[in-house]
Amino acid sequence: MKIGVLALQGAFREHVEALTALGAHVALVKRPEHLDQVDAIFLPGGESTTIDKLLDSSELREPLARRLRDGLPAFATCAGLILCASEVLDGRPDQQPLAVLDVTVRRNGYGRQRESFETPLAVRGLADGDFPGVFIRAPVVDRVGAHVEVLAEHDGVAVLGRADDIWFASFHPELSGDLRLHQLFVNHYS
Ligand code: GLN
Repeated sequence: MKIGVLALQGAFREHVEALTALGAHVALVKRPEHLDQVDAIFLPGGESTTIDKLLDSSELREPLARRLRDGLPAFATCAGLILCASEVLDGRPDQQPLAVLDVTVRRNGYGRQRESFETPLAVRGLADGDFPGVFIRAPVVDRVGAHVEVLAEHDGVAVLGRADDIWFASFHPELSGDLRLHQLFVNHYS
């Protein structure tokens, strides 16, 4: 199985490092033809408005949306979650989420004073203790669809979950030094 990492902008190198450390075959996805070669994809954090524009200039928007709708397993983190959401509050007017995940997110919803924070998260199905949740100007998940399985919450708000084969985290597992969530995803699809 080859795992792609969308490499337009943001923290894609850290996902590559985490996946490589786990022995996965990893490929950068920068162009539509790269998408044909992958069996799963990580959509990294970064700046969602920038990634949104780069989806158009790279001509990845349509093929990526199509593959996600067709069931390509994906793990969307932070800005990646914003890209996948069905609705984005406080986004830029020209921001066009792919709407492949039935959640509403509020961009930068954790606010200025909490722009970055770290907090231990109890993750359902994850052994060996809490997961370090690294939140960086993270979106708040305002609403999850009935179909979404929530795997972790912070202050009663979903921060990790999945719907069918799209997994999401509003935090940055790739910046935590803890590989268990990458491992969970990789094991699930191997
Ligand atoms: N605030 C960023 C955005 O709107 C997301 C932050 C992140 O990915 N760390 O895209």
